[in-house]
Amino acid sequence: MTILTFDIEDWFHTHENRQYFSGHVWKELPSRVECNTVRILEMLDELELKATFFILGWVAQHHPELVKRIHAAGHEIGAHSYWHHSATLLRANDFEKDLVMCLSRLHDITGDQITAYRAPGFSLRLKDQWAFDILAKNGITVDSSVELTGQKRKPPIVVEAGDKQIIEFPLLKSVFGIPYSGGGYFRAIPKILHNYLFSNEVKAGNNEKYRLLYFHPRDFDPKNPYSNLFTLYRNWLNSYSTDTCMDRLKSILSTHNTCTIGEATARYKT
Ligand SMILES: [Zn+2]
Repeated sequence: MTILTFDIEDWFHTHENRQYFSGHVWKELPSRVECNTVRILEMLDELELKATFFILGWVAQHHPELVKRIHAAGHEIGAHSYWHHSATLLRANDFEKDLVMCLSRLHDITGDQITAYRAPGFSLRLKDQWAFDILAKNGITVDSSVELTGQKRKPPIVVEAGDKQIIEFPLLKSVFGIPYSGGGYFRAIPKILHNYLFSNEVKAGNNEKYRLLYFHPRDFDPKNPYSNLFTLYRNWLNSYSTDTCMDRLKSILSTHNTCTIGEATARYKT
């Protein structure tokens, strides 16, 4: 099973140097999220595929038409927080405030109750019970916010949260210890390794039952701006192999059957 997901955020929504700037500078930066997300939508349309879009609340606030377009195309909408803070750096009440802002913005635009969540940077841990309790309290039933290297329990993992349950689809690192199935890691691995990791014989991590593809609009953008908000490394990573990323992804989509995280949950439950 290969789950296809996109985290809809702009090129400047990273964790890099966040101690030096806050969201108030974002409005001043040239936005690339709309044109790059449209390219993703066109690709999915061409391949007749549906995916899960975890959308940042800030992006929804500033680009409501883009959210409407994703929703109208029949894709699944999930929440990706409002401010893109690393989840475990927040106090519980700030985490909830941020979550509610994101959920209500997405609900206002789509009319849907949002039930899927991904924390920025896969920053939740299974031991963060307080966060799962807050997610469940606010209607989240499917989550993909944890990164795992080894796990005794076979993922997906059922997390109990009071009288509710959340199905957690962690990001599983490969046998080489890297989360190769999306983002900068996907772009940075050499083609030969890429082919090997995505050959159907390879099982990543322990007890892999699925692959989790996770991409951002910036992964496909050779025109990501250079910014002195970031280190040289981040500037390099924001540009590395962005010109070939979509073709690489397309080659995987042509050889793997994919599904949304909602469809994966339904299959898991049956
Ligand atoms: Zn993100």
